[in-house]
Amino acid sequence: MVSEQLKSDIRNTYDAFLDQVGGQARRGQMQMLGWITKTLMHTSTPNPKVVIEAGTGTGKTLGYLIPGLMCARALGKQVVVATATVSLQRQLLDKDIPLLADSTGQAIEAKLAKGRRRYLCPIRIEHTRFEAGQKDEQLIRPLSDPQRTMVEGMYTHFHSGDWNGDLDDWDDSIDRDLIPMITSDHGNCRGRRCEAIEECPFYNARDEIDDAEIIITNHDLVLSDLALGGGVVLPAPGEAIYIFDEAHQLADKAISHQTQNLQLGAFNDWLNSLAKRIKETSKLGLEGGGKAALGRLDRQITPITQPIANLHDAMSSWLGQQMGDSKRWSQSASGLHLYRLAPGQLPSEMAHLASQAIEPFKLCIADLDTLIEALKADAENANGELDTEVARNLQAYMNESKIRMERALALIKSWSRTQTQGPEARWVLMRGVERRSEFEDADPELWYSPANAAEGLQEQLWNQCAGAVLCSATLAISKRFDKTYQALGLGAETPCFIIDGGFDYANQGQIVMPDYAVEPTDSEAHDKAILTHLDTLWGRDLGALVLFSSRAQLSRIYEAIDQRVASQVLSQLAMGKGALIGHHQLRRDQRQTSVIFGLQSYSEGIDLPGHLLEEVVITRLPFLQPDDPIQATYAEWVEAQGQRAFSALTLPLASIRLRQAVGRLIRSEQDTGQVTLLDRRIKSKGYGRQLLDDLPGFRRVGFDS
Ligand code: SF4
Repeated sequence: MVSEQLKSDIRNTYDAFLDQVGGQARRGQMQMLGWITKTLMHTSTPNPKVVIEAGTGTGKTLGYLIPGLMCARALGKQVVVATATVSLQRQLLDKDIPLLADSTGQAIEAKLAKGRRRYLCPIRIEHTRFEAGQKDEQLIRPLSDPQRTMVEGMYTHFHSGDWNGDLDDWDDSIDRDLIPMITSDHGNCRGRRCEAIEECPFYNARDEIDDAEIIITNHDLVLSDLALGGGVVLPAPGEAIYIFDEAHQLADKAISHQTQNLQLGAFNDWLNSLAKRIKETSKLGLEGGGKAALGRLDRQITPITQPIANLHDAMSSWLGQQMGDSKRWSQSASGLHLYRLAPGQLPSEMAHLASQAIEPFKLCIADLDTLIEALKADAENANGELDTEVARNLQAYMNESKIRMERALALIKSWSRTQTQGPEARWVLMRGVERRSEFEDADPELWYSPANAAEGLQEQLWNQCAGAVLCSATLAISKRFDKTYQALGLGAETPCFIIDGGFDYANQGQIVMPDYAVEPTDSEAHDKAILTHLDTLWGRDLGALVLFSSRAQLSRIYEAIDQRVASQVLSQLAMGKGALIGHHQLRRDQRQTSVIFGLQSYSEGIDLPGHLLEEVVITRLPFLQPDDPIQATYAEWVEAQGQRAFSALTLPLASIRLRQAVGRLIRSEQDTGQVTLLDRRIKSKGYGRQLLDDLPGFRRVGFDS
């Protein structure tokens, strides 16, 4: 029930905001205020939720911030706004929330929450320096010279107070391999009992969110927190009203959070080095429970390595027998040979080998726990059996070993069943070989992932939260939300709404299919059509974005363009996104031609208004690659349920991706421009009409015949 007082507070806040910015009330925003307030204050509904598709130009951040904040205040909750992109987080923190606070004259406590991996861990960097200084090559994690220099630089700047330990504030780009060595995660962080807690950048930042009314974060941190049971890094779900912006990405993010992998041979090599470290540690004089645990660990590693080695050999031999099964072989995004299993295809002998490792894994993990406790006691006691420094470093090492074991166990469990439960994907990557025929020398890497996130989200989030708002510019397909509900596990009773957005598309732009556009199945003719179109862009006062669906085609086209115009191109393959956008902006501010070559990641979350983007070229309809093992498994499962995977899955996903790509063009009421489609299938195939009709109402050119 919404009180009159709350209604009037929300209305007054909105009016004050409009006065401040000199704007007019927008119908879409007003609708959002009403729908969100009504949903969140409907306290007789457990865990109330609402889904809103708000077209570009609605001003949706204000549409959810005002009711989200005011309802949270009324209910005594915190608001967690989770986005998929950093740029939207920055917009909320640097622009939208300060503007709202200024206009209402009320302080709004808003804080950014990032995961542990975005902060230096003083303990871990100390440990990494220690390991790098060890002489025994078997025991150290080797660092390259540039990594060593970076670690020393970070250590010095952090301890001198020149740097706060926030990785995003470090001046240089950071080597990705270094990040797990200098940051902690939930498994190896010592939490509030850590001796470095006073100087810990993560906990110092974490403490600041306790008092925040609005916490800005990303989908990943919400999902990580939920995986820990909720309330560990962010507020407990029952104390939080979640607002998921860019919610069309949430299902995929949730799936990737549950994906596991294990490279069998490499894991056994690591187990052997752990065995060696355990032997070394046994000689250090630890007594009591720690000594007993070391003794047991010494004996328990072989019972794991043996079934893993057997599984490795059995898998290699079995993959050899599957050589002719070309339907199930494909290439992974990184170019490795990939074999995807059908449900029920795993031979029972192999599932049995995997299951033999489960008990030894569990025993080892329990003993590592005992050992870690013993080392912790020594690390905190100057009069303990071990030197505190040595105990501290060993503790960090054993902690990490335990996490690695737990992850491996989770994967092994999912491969110990011949049947999968529901839509679950299992696949093998052949590492260490170039040709499939060399399978005997390969080190098989086993993968597992649920192909649908609905159940997990239901259990951990939708049934626990104080309330949730999901919004994005692309959630409905042909005005229906059923695919989104299925992917996210939302009940059919969840209310949903569509707001058309604030732009006059018919007058602001056109969507064009040139007569040289072809079906991309003929790759040579398709390359030619792209090159023909690019020739219409060079040398113009124009900002353009050309979207490719494959890295190979992007490279091919880049190689094929005339070298005299190549300098007008900024390729995603040549530089990072931040640098690329910076260069593009500079060129466009000087009115030079600037053409961005990008892949799928450039079709979302990029905001290039005005002269920065006047043409979007879509080279190919963005159907998911049929080789993606998770999507392929889900498609197979959908077919087994009696539906057509193309219409139930492939087409809806392509529609959302196409709308996201097209949505890059018009970002404000002043923007004008053109979307060019170079994939004739939108005109020649029966499904093309549905894709076209789901797009904003641009003038259409070249679609008549
Ligand atoms: S609490 Fe300790 S272990 Fe955890 S991140 Fe902070 S310094 Fe690292």
